[in-house]
Amino acid sequence: MAHPKYPLTFSPLDLGFTRLKNRILMGSMHTGLEDIEGGFERMAAFFAERARGGVGMIITGGIAPNHEAGGGGKLSTPEEAAQHSIVTEAVHAAAPDVKIVMQILHAGPLAGTAACVAPSAIRSRIGRFVPNELDADGIEKQLNDFANCATQAKAAGYDGVEIIGSAGYLLSTFLVEKTNTRTDEWGGSFENRMRFPVEVIRRTRAAVGNDFILIFRIPAMDMLEGGMSGEEVIQLAQAVEAAGATIISTHFTWHEAQVPTIATMVPRAAFAEVTGRIRKHVGVPMITSNRINMPDVAEQVLGAGHADLVSMARPMLADADLVNKAFEGREDEINTCIACNQACLDHTFTGKLTSCLVNPRACNETLMPVVPASVVRDLAVVGAGPAGLAFAVEAAQRGHKLTIYDAGSEIGGQFNLAKRVPGKEEFHETLRYFSRMIEKLGISLRLNTHVDADMLAAASHDEVIVATGIRPRTPDMPGIDHPMAVPYIDAILGRKPIGRRVAIMGAGGIGFDVATLITHAGPSAAVDIPTFCREWGVDFVNHPRGGVTGLVPQIEKADREVVILQRRDGAPGKSLGRTTGWTHRLSLVRRGVKMMGGVTYLKIDDDGLHALVNGEPRLFEVDTVIICAGQEPERALYDALVARGLPAKLIGGASEATELDAKRAIAEATELALAS
Ligand code: FAD
Ligand code: NAP
Ligand code: SF4
Repeated sequence: MAHPKYPLTFSPLDLGFTRLKNRILMGSMHTGLEDIEGGFERMAAFFAERARGGVGMIITGGIAPNHEAGGGGKLSTPEEAAQHSIVTEAVHAAAPDVKIVMQILHAGPLAGTAACVAPSAIRSRIGRFVPNELDADGIEKQLNDFANCATQAKAAGYDGVEIIGSAGYLLSTFLVEKTNTRTDEWGGSFENRMRFPVEVIRRTRAAVGNDFILIFRIPAMDMLEGGMSGEEVIQLAQAVEAAGATIISTHFTWHEAQVPTIATMVPRAAFAEVTGRIRKHVGVPMITSNRINMPDVAEQVLGAGHADLVSMARPMLADADLVNKAFEGREDEINTCIACNQACLDHTFTGKLTSCLVNPRACNETLMPVVPASVVRDLAVVGAGPAGLAFAVEAAQRGHKLTIYDAGSEIGGQFNLAKRVPGKEEFHETLRYFSRMIEKLGISLRLNTHVDADMLAAASHDEVIVATGIRPRTPDMPGIDHPMAVPYIDAILGRKPIGRRVAIMGAGGIGFDVATLITHAGPSAAVDIPTFCREWGVDFVNHPRGGVTGLVPQIEKADREVVILQRRDGAPGKSLGRTTGWTHRLSLVRRGVKMMGGVTYLKIDDDGLHALVNGEPRLFEVDTVIICAGQEPERALYDALVARGLPAKLIGGASEATELDAKRAIAEATELALAS
């Protein structure tokens, strides 16, 4: 019988030799577990939890077919296959009807080793080495290594392999002229340029037989100037289908492209229509992906005929039970991925293990088991910001009795400021999740209640968790109390007027967010696909080469002159996220925002902000100075509790405000709750 709310999502997909139980798969993500001791056991627990969570198919992080392919982990020998079987056995034991597919990733010029290879010796803008140009024998070796890797994957118990043919990795570098200048049968015409990826699929199919899932990840829109045209993508899709692919998965962008494709400012399912266009030209099922983070979005994409299957990668980090919750009508309990990249991709690109800002247990399942509390206690949490909320929900799930107090009229703490910033609309989802969990777990919520030590002493809780957050730092300088000096909270909440000429003091995440907010006009690109396309110069409909128009992006912006300042030398914005910082900077530069380092603030008066810039006096003739100068811990309550000998613990900003973000606040809170 069809599912009443998500009939397409929960319809099985018959692949002939096997069947997927539903249309949601967990997309491939490099977690870093591939590379560490004991990583296979941790991966086994990580994937098994997702398999129990109801997903139809899981695709692992990329595994290299040989040494020159780089990446995380390699599979080319029976000994390595034996290690992988720890993962496949755990997944099949957890849910026999869930398929697990291993991604084969040959990073080509991005392999990060001097032995890296490519069709031509052309260094990528983001590559560490000039790759070694493959000769005829080299090409033959690479082709055979793919087939061997897939054979070993089959021996390890995987249900299939996915071969990544996109992103600037080896296969995709054959496809475009900018990285393939060969004049033999592997270069020149598009037919020659696509020969290598197609041959990889043909040889792999021949090696593994017909009863094995073989997915090809196609560069559906590479976002490169002079990249692949829409026609070429279709030609490639048809050729890999003919060569034996079971499923084609669409991938958008090369890593070096300058269009955001998964950050929080990208609208949900923005790229799905590109998949839909290719789907009309092939017979095999197609997967779409990117910013599909809730079941209703998946159902809409399937209903529009854009795809046969929907890939959710980061949403499965955020909530292992996402699919079961959708099936059971408990969507409001989904801990939604907010596309921040802070604990997943930012970690990957800085050599740290992947996890998740909203779910720090992701990839740490064996280290952070959730077990019922041995002694049930009455716990008070003061502060309903991310730290207090995460503690309360996790502790209540373990059986403790919880009361949350907050001085504000709604839960969320600073997330209530963040959610107002264009591009951060997803923060509403985190608050919806916490709100529902408070209700579901019977947590007592006392809003509009500013508590002090007397009140808590009278309430006789067993312990108080102090999550009172921060207070904005007020720099000690002449004129800081001038009417034109506005604290960031007042600016974000619209409590004070903001003039046409603005200086922002402080270039951290909040300085950038405030600049985004006050320079914005029109709909947020994060919720409006046409606005996103105009702002980033993308054309989904006509698919010119690369999908990019190459035109000057058209930005709707407020009539304001804004300058962001910092005391530190150098360009502001260095502290922003590794994988998203560039999008914030570029977006502001395109709005005409100026940025300046090496500033010494002198005073604020009726003329504006007086400063030294690199030692030279300078007057910023502005109407408003917005103070975004960091934060200090709000811990008076904790000190008062300790002074009275009451049991108390500190978490989040109240514990340490320097470099505090929601990732640290939630992780700290979750760890404490699991140990309480
Ligand atoms: P808070 O969120 O500060 O919560 C503290 C709570 O305690 C408040 O609700 C307050 O009312 C309550 N409280 C204080 N004293 C008392 C008392 N005595 N009695 C009762 N209640 C009390 N972080 C990220 O990781 N990524 C981002 O993209 C991001 N964007 C941001 C954008 C903006 C505009 C802002 C302002 C912050 C952003 N942050 C971001 C930072 C993030 O929101 C904070 O790190 C996080 O909220 C800190 O959580 P917390 O629970 O420690 O404190
Ligand atoms: P922040 O990142 O610490 O930045 C504070 C800024 O104020 C810096 O530019 C600092 O640089 C300046 N500053 C510090 N002391 C000052 C003083 N006494 N006088 C004048 N300027 C001073 O803090 P934030 O911007 O307030 O953000 C708070 C937290 O929220 C951060 O940890 C951040 O990661 C998080 N957040 C994250 C995002 C995101 O998108 N990931 C967005 C918003 C917030 P100089 O000392 O060089 O001037
Ligand atoms: Fe999503 Fe952020 Fe978690 Fe990554 S860290 S999975 S982007 S919520």
